[in-house]
Amino acid sequence: MTERRLEQLLIETAMTYIALPLSEFDDAVNNSLQQIGTLTDADRLYVFQYHDGFTHCSNTHEWCASGVEPQIQFLQNYPMEGMDEWLDAHQAGCLFMVNDVLLLAEESVTRQTLEPQGIRSLITAPITSSGECLGFVGLDFVKQPTSFNNYHIKLITLFGQLLANIELRKRQLIDKDRILTEKLRRKEVEKQLLNEQQRLNTAMDHDLLTGLANRSLFEQLLNVEMTRSQRDKTTLVLLYIDLDNFAMLNQQLGQEHGDALLIDIAKRLQASVREPHHIARIGGDEFALILTDCEFTSTANCTAIVQRILRTIAAPYQIEEDSVNVTASIGLTSFPQSQMVDAEQLLRQADQAMYQAKLAGKHRYYRFNPEQDSVIRHRHELIQTIQAGIKNNEFALFYQPQIDMRTNQVLGFEALIRWQHPKQGLLSPGFFLPATDNQPVAKDIDVWVVSTALNQLSYWKSKGLHTRVSINISNQLLLAPEFIPLLKAALRHHADVSPNQLEIEILESGALDDLARAAAVVTSLHQLGIRCALDDFGTGYSSLTFLKRLLADVVKIDQSFVADLLLDNDHQLIVNSVIGLCQNLGRHVLAEGIETAEQAEQLKNMGCYWAQGYWFAKPMPASDVLPWHLQWTSMQA
Ligand code: C2E
Ligand code: MG
Ligand code: MG
Repeated sequence: MTERRLEQLLIETAMTYIALPLSEFDDAVNNSLQQIGTLTDADRLYVFQYHDGFTHCSNTHEWCASGVEPQIQFLQNYPMEGMDEWLDAHQAGCLFMVNDVLLLAEESVTRQTLEPQGIRSLITAPITSSGECLGFVGLDFVKQPTSFNNYHIKLITLFGQLLANIELRKRQLIDKDRILTEKLRRKEVEKQLLNEQQRLNTAMDHDLLTGLANRSLFEQLLNVEMTRSQRDKTTLVLLYIDLDNFAMLNQQLGQEHGDALLIDIAKRLQASVREPHHIARIGGDEFALILTDCEFTSTANCTAIVQRILRTIAAPYQIEEDSVNVTASIGLTSFPQSQMVDAEQLLRQADQAMYQAKLAGKHRYYRFNPEQDSVIRHRHELIQTIQAGIKNNEFALFYQPQIDMRTNQVLGFEALIRWQHPKQGLLSPGFFLPATDNQPVAKDIDVWVVSTALNQLSYWKSKGLHTRVSINISNQLLLAPEFIPLLKAALRHHADVSPNQLEIEILESGALDDLARAAAVVTSLHQLGIRCALDDFGTGYSSLTFLKRLLADVVKIDQSFVADLLLDNDHQLIVNSVIGLCQNLGRHVLAEGIETAEQAEQLKNMGCYWAQGYWFAKPMPASDVLPWHLQWTSMQA
């Protein structure tokens, strides 16, 4: 074996390690050991690794010539104690060799270590990388002692260096592998986290039953789309879909089938509109949808889509053997609007429109009308200020006298409400009462009026004025069961006021709403000793039967007839017949809104003696009543 051949082998060996994957290193080292061992006629070639601060070493690779006993299994965690020479040489980067073990002193640890292994000659070279001794490579002869020559020295040194390089590369690869594994592991962890996040997000942002966005996500999406539509100058349409009578259906079908139905509806909704529309389930049986594509938002297109959705939902559903039908009511609104609205308001508008669709008979759609909404909002605000006004004592009753034209005697006063508005000044009921129609606040006003009028009567009585006050009561309280008990309680509080000092004015329109109830109320009032007047007579659809059934003590001819009395023949005829009717039925008749002496004269001539109007006196603050009364009576005297 030539030296050249061996050098070539070492070069080839070195080359093989360059692109070797980590997993094949051990086999490659074993292979190199075998090739070099064979070439050198060695009995054993091996690699050791130092560890635990050079206190121990372990045999990692071994090649043995045939017939030579392998030692690797006995040489794991082998103690290096007493092998100072050996260690010193390796740590200094030098070879350590023994030409003949048997020539060593018998007590030498090296001999005691090598002899039992049957080693006669040995040459080892350190595996040193970056100045650190990692282990060693060695070559043994067991059969006979060998004097190592330069060739052996060169070979083992180069092989040691090669192994050092291999070790270095191995470490780099391990590092790289570790980094790679770490990267992969991180990626995996990140992926898991992302999945978990998505799962959580889905659970938080989506309706678990249908998988659609939930209300909170929908509101976010709506905000985004509203911003987009403003930026792009496009229109978006918001649909609020509510299933008709779903609660009942759910009860009939049972929860499980009800859920299945909702899932089915969600699927149909998704199929009924093209991307990129957003659909959400925002309540038990409520869905919402944003149409963002401007081509759909033209009224005609939008109507077509909404009608398609109505049809889609209304198509029968198969629940087990049964075919089930369900319909929906849809409210729609669009954005942008002439006034700024936010997502919440937009949703409320669509909800309100949906409610209108329900009121109009369900299974239909209704388009929100922004103008109507501003009226509603204004009304709502007004009601709130009225409520606050009552608490803050901003209201007052003005009093307008009622006169018997035959004697000019004061029959009593009609109490007429005024609002001393902190900013707008004195307001007539025409400015605020219409807003209270059918609202709970109307009753609050009535309660306040009853108590204020009774207080006033008490006060006047204490000042020597014994008179009657007519109060106007809203239709709402008039027909409510608490009305009579409320009056009773109020009268109990004012023991000094006689019930016949009070007159209740009923609007013709209110009595017409529920004649039977109104008639019963009048009877109850009479039982209490309270008088009753039918206000604004002639403005409704009063019939003879009506007048006969409602036992009002006084019928007040509406001022519109009085105003035209001298100009309009028809009105004259009507007033004439009302007067006649009242005389026949034994009712008093009073004309409202008399502004001139001619009107007063004419009415007197027609047989209507009771009168009220600016001609006699305008409604006045309570504090003016006593002086006015004094003056009036003194004038008549
Ligand atoms: P009403 O009960 O028919 O009251 C008569 C209205 O005619 C009063 O208007 C009064 O100021 C007005 N008036 C009186 N004489 C004349 C006149 O010669 N010419 C003209 N042009 N008008 C005259 P007001 O005070 O603005 O009240 C309007 C309506 O508001 C009342 O009509 C009544 O329906 C309602 N109202 C007034 N006060 C109350 C109240 O305390 N409670 C309730 N529920 N309604 C009230
Ligand atoms: Mg009145
Ligand atoms: Mg009236």
